[in-house]
Amino acid sequence: MVYYVSGYERRAMKHINSSEDYLKCILELKEKHGHVRSVDVACEMGVTKPSVSNAMKKLRREGLIRVDEDGYICFSETGKQIAEKVHNKHLLITKVLMHIGVSENTASKEAHMIEHVISDETYRCLQDFHSDYEPKKG
Ligand SMILES: [Zn+2]
Repeated sequence: MVYYVSGYERRAMKHINSSEDYLKCILELKEKHGHVRSVDVACEMGVTKPSVSNAMKKLRREGLIRVDEDGYICFSETGKQIAEKVHNKHLLITKVLMHIGVSENTASKEAHMIEHVISDETYRCLQDFHSDYEPKKG
């Protein structure tokens, strides 16, 4: 994929390969297929296998995932918590941005940046804001 990007978009793309995004991707693939290998992550994120191997190595070193002898990726408790948090942040931020009129494409792209830098305080406020206009079911 080769195209010209603005500084703004370059900043957005820099986040694509962050550890948090790898964890989020693993979580989403697990939800879809029940199991995940590095090759699935490479495919889903559109990155090369060596990039994924490096990322997985880092996540393993940090104790966030384990890889079993068949190459399947499992979360540690902490890894799972981080993955779920980023996943939920992404969904919520995308929804709130769309609620205020941002297009889905832009909202999703920018949620990708915001999800990694937003403070817990702001995130809590966004949760409150969101539940005001869209009350939780049940
Ligand atoms: Zn992201």
